[in-house]
Formats: sequence, structure tokens, C-alpha cells
Amino acid sequence: MICYNIFMTGKTHRTIGLAFGVGYFLISAKPEYQPATLFAVVGASYLGSLIPDADDAGADIWHTIPLGHSVGKISDPFLKHRNISHSLVGVGVYTIIVYTLLRAMPSYWAISIFPVLISSAIAYLSHLLADAFTVEGIPIFWPWKRNFGLPPKPFDGARIETGKWFENLLVFPLANILLLVLIFSNWQKIKELILK
Ligand SMILES: [Zn+2]
Repeated sequence: MICYNIFMTGKTHRTIGLAFGVGYFLISAKPEYQPATLFAVVGASYLGSLIPDADDAGADIWHTIPLGHSVGKISDPFLKHRNISHSLVGVGVYTIIVYTLLRAMPSYWAISIFPVLISSAIAYLSHLLADAFTVEGIPIFWPWKRNFGLPPKPFDGARIETGKWFENLLVFPLANILLLVLIFSNWQKIKELILK
């Protein structure tokens, strides 16, 4: 039996999520934004790119937090991989959680909430978009359990087997190049945002 690795790896999701989430912010950033807004955008984009796979015990996100591996193992049997987390409902839930966390931050940090919410939603959506190109597809319209993918059936033979050469030699390097280009082309903006 052929065993497909059916989801993209964490490193690919993280890089794509940062490129899209932080990239959107850098392109649309206004001079009045405070440094904390940039840091919140990076944090929320980073988490948003990995959280959809938090329902998998082996996911990268569980290795990035203390005791995460144990928590991941405990929660694993209760959550079927690629369920609500890979849907538009999941994007909405994550955005509400980020909003609640941002409201709890000290007001003197002067975080601009709106751009952080947009960046985190974009990073989360980038994860779903990347997974949509894989063999399994995603239940984007959960609770409707049907999986959708790109390209749609009957052209699904062109979808990506992840963890293989296409992801490792093409998607991952391209995402890194995109992220670096965005950082360097917006370097002046980043400096102005941080050195306030
Ligand atoms: Zn995923």
C-alpha cells in the first residue's frame, strides 16, 4: 500500500504564514503604528500558521511550547485531524481568540488591533490554502464534512504529495525567498516601526 504523507510540514506552513501575514502588514503599515503592533503581527501570524495542525500530536506547534508534546498527546485522541481547525469556522474562532488576547494587553503598548487581526487571519488562511493543494484536501465548509481541494476533482491527480520533493525543493524554498524579499524590500519601514 502506498502511504501518503497527507499534510504539509510545519516549517513550510510557518514560512508561508509569516510571508503572507507579516507581508500584508508591511505593505499596508502606517507610520503611526507602534513597535508592539509589529511584534503582535509576527506572533499572531506565526501561531496562525501552525494552530490548524494543533490537533495533531506530532505537529510542530507542540514542540515550540513547554510541555507541549505531552499536551499534544493527551488532546490527540479527542480531535480528529483536519476537522474544524481546517475550516472557515476555525479562521473565525482563531480571530476571536486573537482579538480577546489583544484586548487584554496593556493599553500603553498601543497595539493597533485591526491590522493584527487581518494578518493573523491571512496567516491562518494561508495554512488552509497550502493544505488544499495536498492529496487529502480540507473540510473548508465544516461542519459539512466533505473535503475540498485544489485542483478540484476530477483533476485531483495533480495535488501535492507533501514532504516530498515538490514541497521540499519548490514550495519551501520559494516561501523562504518570498519572506526574505518582503523583509528586505520593507527594511526601511521595519526600522522606522521598531526604532520609535
Ligand atoms: Zn494542516
